[in-house]
Amino acid sequence: MTTAGKTQDTQTLIVGAGAAGLAVAAQLKQRGIPFLLIEQSDKAGVSWLGHYDRLHLHTSRGMSGLPDWPMPRDYPKYPSRDQVAAYMEAYAAHFDLRPIFNTRLLRAERLDGRWVSETTGGVFVSDNLVLATGYTRVPHWPSWPGQEAYTGRVSHSATYKNGAPYAGQDVLVVGFGNSGGEIAVDLHEHGARTGIAVRGPVNVVPRDTLGIPSLQWNLLLSRLPGGLGDMIAAPLVYASVGDVYKYGLQKNKLGPIRQIKEQEQDPLLDVGTVKLIKSGRLTVYPGIERFTSNGVVFVDGREQAFDAVILATGYRPDVGELVPAADTSVAPNGVPSRSGGEFGLPGLYACGFYISRTGMLREIGIEARRVAAQIADRKR
Ligand SMILES: Cc1cc2nc3c(=O)[nH]c(=O)nc-3n(C[C@H](O)[C@H](O)[C@H](O)COP(=O)(O)OP(=O)(O)OC[C@H]3O[C@@H](n4cnc5c(N)ncnc54)[C@H](O)[C@@H]3O)c2cc1C
Repeated sequence: MTTAGKTQDTQTLIVGAGAAGLAVAAQLKQRGIPFLLIEQSDKAGVSWLGHYDRLHLHTSRGMSGLPDWPMPRDYPKYPSRDQVAAYMEAYAAHFDLRPIFNTRLLRAERLDGRWVSETTGGVFVSDNLVLATGYTRVPHWPSWPGQEAYTGRVSHSATYKNGAPYAGQDVLVVGFGNSGGEIAVDLHEHGARTGIAVRGPVNVVPRDTLGIPSLQWNLLLSRLPGGLGDMIAAPLVYASVGDVYKYGLQKNKLGPIRQIKEQEQDPLLDVGTVKLIKSGRLTVYPGIERFTSNGVVFVDGREQAFDAVILATGYRPDVGELVPAADTSVAPNGVPSRSGGEFGLPGLYACGFYISRTGMLREIGIEARRVAAQIADRKR
């Protein structure tokens, strides 16, 4: 490890000034525990600014605020991308967290019982290291046979802003997560002829049921044993989304609550995708088998031309890249073995890597309190 540049010493180094890093920092600050917070970009909450234009929270304002300073009351039930980003910046200012910007963690290792972190802004030495670098740090780009010969444009949802550049084109969205479902709606509204490739079984739920956010229902129903919560919710979900599964989607054999718990995958919270599918304005395809020069062949043998393919195929946190010594405590998909506490090595903490039934932002608040409490308890 190089040790060029200045060296700073602190009790706790927090990496990432997104929701998770800010929440941990605010908790430490209120406990009087010294820390430094580094951020690779020049803004707190910057990941939200990078998301697509039409994005609003899928979780309600009341369930998405960070600890001890909720989102403003005059925000709508589902705040916009820009409102979330503004809230993050205001949160950092409110708690005077002073992130050190333009400072990227390259690699951290444990030497003589302390953490030595090499960054683009010099070396930081600390007793504790909190990774809050985000579940969505690295866009996941699967590849298929023949892709190199495809003459259309392949991009990732991470760089999608809006459907304007795709007006009048045939576009395939790959992936039926919340980003894929919403980007398909956006493309349609911008005049693209849109298809969506859905590889496996899914669940679709309305964003609200009887005026109550679905994730709030989850909070209530997920306390029930086994699949009981899903059984109770099923008629309400059906009343809202109907039999969307006869349009090419396969129903997940687990209900939405068990899907999140057991498969660590969110159901689609519908913001208009179902209506488009049912009206035939959004075509559902199965998974891709291979690319051709001007489109794709699906696993059912159908071949279709597309001008562009947008991969809404998710992300990998890849924390093992940043802390190679903790690699054995990181799953193959890059997720630390524990989020919201110490993992892998002494003094190494993770926050923001657990896909919760009730929304990640809410979970981040819970995890941040736990991480701060553990750091407070840990003797030097
Ligand atoms: C499109 C989309 C919509 C979402 N909608 C919701 C929702 O409605 N409700 C909900 O609860 N959750 C939602 N989430 C999930 C999650 O709650 C948010 O993404 C949340 O902002 C995650 O916060 P975070 O701090 O963990 O990660 P991020 O916001 O990604 O913050 C991580 C920070 O770490 C920085 N960083 C990364 N690597 C380094 C490094 N090596 N050195 C220094 N800094 C680094 C990044 O620049 C970034 O600022 C959504 C996610 C996505 C992608």
